[in-house]
Amino acid sequence: MKRVLLKLSGEALAGEKKTGFDEKTCLEVARQVKELTDQGIQVAIVTGGGNFWRGRTSETIDRVKADQIGMLATVMNCIYVSDIFRFAGMKTEVFTPFVCGAFTTLFSKDRAVEALESGKVIFFAGGTGHPYFSTDTGAVLRAIEIEADAMLLAKAIDGIYDSDPKVNPDAKKYEEISIQEVLDKQLMAVDLTASILCMEQKMPMLVFGLNEPDSITETMTGKFSGTKVTV
Ligand code: UDP
Repeated sequence: MKRVLLKLSGEALAGEKKTGFDEKTCLEVARQVKELTDQGIQVAIVTGGGNFWRGRTSETIDRVKADQIGMLATVMNCIYVSDIFRFAGMKTEVFTPFVCGAFTTLFSKDRAVEALESGKVIFFAGGTGHPYFSTDTGAVLRAIEIEADAMLLAKAIDGIYDSDPKVNPDAKKYEEISIQEVLDKQLMAVDLTASILCMEQKMPMLVFGLNEPDSITETMTGKFSGTKVTV
């Protein structure tokens, strides 16, 4: 794989605190991504926003406004993580699908690919720019647009299971599963819209636990111990 999109769940970025940023977790992500870029692999990143805000959890305010706050939460996450990456010695650029003044660059495929080819790690903040979507969908969409070889999905859980391992101690983790089966069995590695986009556009996924040691770098080796989602 030469070009990958790494999706970091907001919750995983918060570490044990479950909210805000956990610097140690982000520094560890940076260390591993640098290993990949040092090998010449182009990396684009999407972060979730659940460590700050989820639009659908508000029962009071208008959903469109709630989702706009969620999208802005992902911008904060990307600005933070991109600066941790700079501290770790990488060049970065944050793209958004809407204008954020001088804070970010307005997304276009050409600008994003140019930045990747110049050696930068790029961040896609702000999701799709539209309410009623998720950063999972935004991540698949951008992975397809930049013609990534795969989407790496770093989650709080270490792969896809046949049932919830927190509830069922006998839950079985899949080593490999097709996206069709993920959909048929409603395993929801990513949400439904994102799964369908993955299937239609044949975007493979590697699902793994962000907190497992070296889990990001191992996606590129035979040691990968998460779940491969084939298309
Ligand atoms: N969001 C949105 N459109 C997008 C991406 C995200 O409206 O294209 C909003 C939505 O409110 C979501 C929040 O941003 O709840 C955080 O994104 P994330 O996908 O991380 O939400 P989660 O999966 O944690 O609910």
